[in-house]
Amino acid sequence: MLTINNYVKAKSLEEAYELNQARNARVMGGMMWMRLGNAKVQTLIDLSNLGLDQIEETERYFKIGAMCTLRQLELHEGLREAYGDSIAESVRHIVGVQFRNQATVGGSIYGRFGFSDVLTCLLALDTFVELYDGGTIRLSEFVNHKRDKDILLSIIIRKSDRKLHYDSIRQTKTDFPVLACAVVTGPVHGKETWYFSIGARPMKAAVLEKEWEIPKDISDEQLEIYAKEAAAQFTYGTNMRGSAKYRQHLAEVLIMRAMRSILAEDK
Ligand SMILES: Cc1cc2nc3c(=O)[nH]c(=O)nc-3n(C[C@H](O)[C@H](O)[C@H](O)COP(=O)(O)OP(=O)(O)OC[C@H]3O[C@@H](n4cnc5c(N)ncnc54)[C@H](O)[C@@H]3O)c2cc1C
Repeated sequence: MLTINNYVKAKSLEEAYELNQARNARVMGGMMWMRLGNAKVQTLIDLSNLGLDQIEETERYFKIGAMCTLRQLELHEGLREAYGDSIAESVRHIVGVQFRNQATVGGSIYGRFGFSDVLTCLLALDTFVELYDGGTIRLSEFVNHKRDKDILLSIIIRKSDRKLHYDSIRQTKTDFPVLACAVVTGPVHGKETWYFSIGARPMKAAVLEKEWEIPKDISDEQLEIYAKEAAAQFTYGTNMRGSAKYRQHLAEVLIMRAMRSILAEDK
């Protein structure tokens, strides 16, 4: 059971950060995950008054406040215009609309959960996290940081001419994914570059980068060779949802489908 002694709605980021330095203090997002845990929290810090619940779009980036809900990601017109249905697809299967109206982007990314669809999807894009104390760093670096007492302020996705495709496999609707897969491609320093992010392996998502010039009319047999090569570069584990071997097979299939879909868009 979770017990909370003291609840504070922070009036400033400085106050939130200072309070959070105590050993038994916790920052809250939507509380959807934390409330299921067993912990004695001395001070629970609510960030909901600090203006972190907006998605800002400029010519160069999207800045998603940590207190934005998953539902805001799902419905944002600018994200849909930039990445098609893929961002929405990455959250659509998470429990239900009421749940996604409460679970936050900050809680999802800070949690660095192995099963996270949100992390898998954002990792494939040109994404940074803004931390109160740690500054702005790449999401791929943050994923491997040890948990500390910093506060996640926002997620920044740099805009570029990249295409995203997201898909996941679930044994049943709304369950955690057996495997999650995001594929992104676009020119980087003049070279066509592919990014493959595989999550729920069941370990947390990791990303692979490949400079591959792939002709749009490539045959399925040839594309399968690329997909197999990409999938083989991740490690997989076994749990109650599937074996490592099954997950690697799913990764090959999802990568292949994503590449095919992106190449078809370009025709
Ligand atoms: C039943 C269930 C099913 C789920 N299924 C899926 C799924 O299929 N796919 C998927 O991707 N996700 C899934 N999730 C996870 C969910 O999408 C959220 O990621 C999760 O609930 C955390 O978000 P929250 O806002 O509830 O965070 P909270 O529970 O409030 O916080 C989570 C952690 O993050 C910390 N934290 C929160 N915000 C910040 C911040 N700004 N700075 C620093 N630390 C912070 C908290 O202290 C806590 O340690 C599921 C969760 C549940 C409970």
